[in-house]
Amino acid sequence: MRQLFFLIFMCIRFGKLKYLSYITNNKMTSMKECKECGKVKDAIQFSKCKAKKDGLQPKCKQCNSKDNKKFRTEINPHHHAKWQISNWDKLMGYLRKYRKADKNGIIYAIINPLGEMYIGMSEMYLKARMTEHRKHYRQYKKGKRKSLPLLHDSFDMHGIENHKFETILEVEGIDRKELENIESSFIEAVKQTGKSLNIRN
Ligand SMILES: [Zn+2]
Repeated sequence: MRQLFFLIFMCIRFGKLKYLSYITNNKMTSMKECKECGKVKDAIQFSKCKAKKDGLQPKCKQCNSKDNKKFRTEINPHHHAKWQISNWDKLMGYLRKYRKADKNGIIYAIINPLGEMYIGMSEMYLKARMTEHRKHYRQYKKGKRKSLPLLHDSFDMHGIENHKFETILEVEGIDRKELENIESSFIEAVKQTGKSLNIRN
């Protein structure tokens, strides 16, 4: 993790955001980090999953088989003769965990012509998040909103259309808290370059 942040910092410092999205984009590498055990393994160690962007399951085969075993022996009543109503909470707990793990998140940057940037996170796609940013900016212009003063000043100064919106990191199966931690690290890294448009965090 520390290595990742160093990488992020270097990329932001040298303006290589494109490069960063390249190396963090699982599609283009043959290595992938298992979201269960955290080990970086060769793509061959992951089962295929068409629904996922990179075509692979988020968990490695080894972790998946552990899960399947858990499912057979602990969750699925047909595989577990003595399954009782008292296991209900446990089941619900598992389901919550699985649903949560299906969530994807992005870290994005809004970059002005001076190379100053705003870093944000979202559990939606970049396009949807940008629509929201435009809406908030219109509200700000009408005096209905005071948030994100540096970003909105930048929109005023350079025109919103002259800002680049870029996804810089896509993460699969992450919860909000974790995503927020990554966002904070990005913001910190950009602040160290003196080009941050984030005012709080
Ligand atoms: Zn694993």
